[in-house]
Amino acid sequence: MSGDLKGKLNIVGIGPGNDLHITPAALAAIKEADSIIGYTTYINLVKHHLNGKQVTRTGMTEEITRAQTAVENAKSGQTVTLISSGDAGVYGMAGLVFEVLRKIGWKRGDSPEIKMIPGISADSSCGSLVGAPMVHDSARISLSDLLTPWPVIENRIESAAKGDFVINLYNPASGRRQRQIVEAARIIQKYRPGTTPVALVKSAYRRQETIQFSDLDHFLEFEIGMNTTVIIGSSQSFVYEGFFVTPRGYSNKYSLEDGSLKPGQNRAVSLRTEGDLTSRVSNTSDLPNLNITKIQGAFVKTSTTVFQGEEEEKPQQDSSVAVALSALKFLEPDRNTKKEKVSELRSEEEICYLGRIGGAILYKRKEKHFLIGKFKRPTNLEDFGFHNISEENQKWKELTVKNLEKISGNKLEILISFPVETSPEMIYDLFAIHRNSSISERLWNYTKDNSKKVIWENEEYIDARWLGNSPSQVWSVFRDNILKCD
Ligand code: SAH
Repeated sequence: MSGDLKGKLNIVGIGPGNDLHITPAALAAIKEADSIIGYTTYINLVKHHLNGKQVTRTGMTEEITRAQTAVENAKSGQTVTLISSGDAGVYGMAGLVFEVLRKIGWKRGDSPEIKMIPGISADSSCGSLVGAPMVHDSARISLSDLLTPWPVIENRIESAAKGDFVINLYNPASGRRQRQIVEAARIIQKYRPGTTPVALVKSAYRRQETIQFSDLDHFLEFEIGMNTTVIIGSSQSFVYEGFFVTPRGYSNKYSLEDGSLKPGQNRAVSLRTEGDLTSRVSNTSDLPNLNITKIQGAFVKTSTTVFQGEEEEKPQQDSSVAVALSALKFLEPDRNTKKEKVSELRSEEEICYLGRIGGAILYKRKEKHFLIGKFKRPTNLEDFGFHNISEENQKWKELTVKNLEKISGNKLEILISFPVETSPEMIYDLFAIHRNSSISERLWNYTKDNSKKVIWENEEYIDARWLGNSPSQVWSVFRDNILKCD
């Protein structure tokens, strides 16, 4: 382990499984990762976001190794993103990661930093496809008895049924697990009528999505599997125009015709019923004295206006940012004619040119070749015409030529200009900003997409001289234009 490097472990929920329902924060955590770990199906759901990443796919029953690998890699300095479907904190990998961390004696402040990123859980996504079944209290119960004794599960079903919770059954059945759902139905039937609405949602928001409506007496006749969530209504749930609804209870207090209060009720206090808490408190000294947060606006009158967003404050710019920005404006390619915009390079500046091998940056200056950064995948330098180098953890290495012809076949794509004294280490700092490889990856791609093309020594290159020639200038351009932050 490289002691001083602090790694990061993102524990991410990707939602039900399509791009519209993944959060920007989850996507950012995927983009910033050096390596991604997850169960094969979940990796497949986001595979189009994983170009160039080191991806470890695991099988269903390999959760412990998956969590250990994630922790180990992150501990030694990588940014690792572990993905679960839905929310990683709901029957997801998060719990196991914390168990592994506790086992190895990890403390806050140690490597890796741990970041939880929420996702839309299956009950929310499945609920949205059938209506509003969870507007009142609900319970999630997993029928998987792989890790939980059946009597525990049975007791929870019984309690939730008795408590009149809407019940969301996760992991309801599989090829090898069929008796559990039958048993669950039998228990719930003791407390609810056979007409209680039940929805079965399979693979919500994925290609194989199917939605079935049924009721407590008949839902077992439908297909149920590992990708299904079964939503069982409470005694109050109803189906209206194809929407499964569990009411919040407004009609206990108000008339739904004109919104008026029912006799004996009061807007801002507890519902008056037999046995309500108010009627049980005999004297005021029984009142608890808690530290309650008061919210403003709870009882304001309705108002409708066209909302005017507040003016955004312009961030103060230092001069290197201003220089970089004006360069950016000047070079801002005309989007329609980007391809044809090839200009002649006439400058007498000292020019270096860069390309990529195996994810590391190859650069050339005065006939010398250097490699900066580490390979992201195993790479044989001899295939590119250089002698192999020993795998040392250096920021840069000078390469020695083995086969000139092969080297000329390498496409070096980007041109940068530097003062004569620029060292390879400085180039490393420019392109491996803050040692975060995903940032340098985005910088690289942004540069490629947003620069003019030029002709240099009869070859076409991307002219990236506008980036500036110091790490702070590049960083400023990067923050303002690529990360879009201040
Ligand atoms: N962390 C996940 C749950 C994992 S447990 C989440 O928050 O959603 C796996 C169970 O979740 C499945 O057996 C199924 O019951 C449910 N599930 C997960 N994704 C689903 C989807 N897209 N559609 C329906 N049910 C889903």
